[in-house]
Amino acid sequence: MVKEMYREEDYLMLSGLQHFAYCRRQWALIHIEQQWAENERTIDGQLFHSVAHDKERFEKRGGLLITRGLHIKSACLGMSGICDVVEFHQCEGGISLSVYDGLWRPFPIEYKKGLPKENEADELQLCGQAICLEEMLLCHIPCGSLFYGENRRRKNVEFTEELRKKVYDMAEEMHELWKKGYTPKVRPKKGCNACSLKEICVPKLGRIKSVSVYIDSSLSGEG
Ligand code: SF4
Repeated sequence: MVKEMYREEDYLMLSGLQHFAYCRRQWALIHIEQQWAENERTIDGQLFHSVAHDKERFEKRGGLLITRGLHIKSACLGMSGICDVVEFHQCEGGISLSVYDGLWRPFPIEYKKGLPKENEADELQLCGQAICLEEMLLCHIPCGSLFYGENRRRKNVEFTEELRKKVYDMAEEMHELWKKGYTPKVRPKKGCNACSLKEICVPKLGRIKSVSVYIDSSLSGEG
């Protein structure tokens, strides 16, 4: 499968994959229109992530190496971001690392504050991280794991061809919307109740062209 290679200046945020999977409009509001409502859910999430991104927390335990806050990117996806945790498991068929002897297989782990979701948003984001790591480290990563803070459980995720295709398709769609600067219209759904942007998304006023237009017209008294 031949993929378009994006220029670095066109890279989008990898974390946008989860927003895009949840709701295309939410992604566009955050990443195209830069609207962001910090409800309790998102603030807690940031605090939780700051622990995972603590660069002082490097650990080596025998055949297990743990790194945190690794910056990653992919020219094929046209995305960059940060991995919460990447474990390197010492095993045959892994890759060599300059600072440690032996062969190591990367295993990305993404931390989530809540519980596993009904949709695939978290799996898609994790798969996007694996694609970045594969491109950077020239290796194959068959699986990774999601760690949920609420039940403190890991959920293993296999990076199937189907999951990978969804990530590539989403990345392509995101770049198209980004180029056009287009914010999809409101499509009210179950997830709207838990959405951190519901106040500014104004689902009930779904015919409004964009949130910026709505805010401008409200401020000028025309809304
Ligand atoms: S409120 Fe609903 S339609 Fe609006 S951004 Fe959130 S999930 Fe999407």
